[in-house]
Amino acid sequence: MYCINCWNPNTKVIDSRASDDGKTIRRRRECENCRNRFTTFEKMEIMTLVVEKSWKRIEKYNREKLEDSILKAVNKRNMSVWIINDIIRKLEFKWGSKWEVTSKQVWKDVLEVLAHVDEVAYIRYASVHLNFESAKDFAEFIQKNLEK
Ligand SMILES: [Zn+2]
Repeated sequence: MYCINCWNPNTKVIDSRASDDGKTIRRRRECENCRNRFTTFEKMEIMTLVVEKSWKRIEKYNREKLEDSILKAVNKRNMSVWIINDIIRKLEFKWGSKWEVTSKQVWKDVLEVLAHVDEVAYIRYASVHLNFESAKDFAEFIQKNLEK
């Protein structure tokens, strides 16, 4: 657990208490670096997942944001919301086994799924999330990845 004050990754638990319904654990933590004390609530859910972005910037996993990015990619592709939800649920299940995923891993996993589901959506998603230097790079990417 990162310290919310100095982002030091080493914090120790000084007190744990389960909520009445047993589904949440309240933990009192102390940062080993700056001695900042804070409380965390741990839920038995994927929603505690953290997405690590570049330069150690982290943010809380946001299902809506992921859904939006996929919806943009499948715009007018006649894909049902049900399928999209199913994709997200499966990905969450995969990521849920880890405590942290990188944003790169998120893109890669989404791309992998879209490649099987809808090639146009796949290409759109790739064009938004991978930084292509030029149209040539993009064309090469498509050629390489859509070869069957
Ligand atoms: Zn700290």
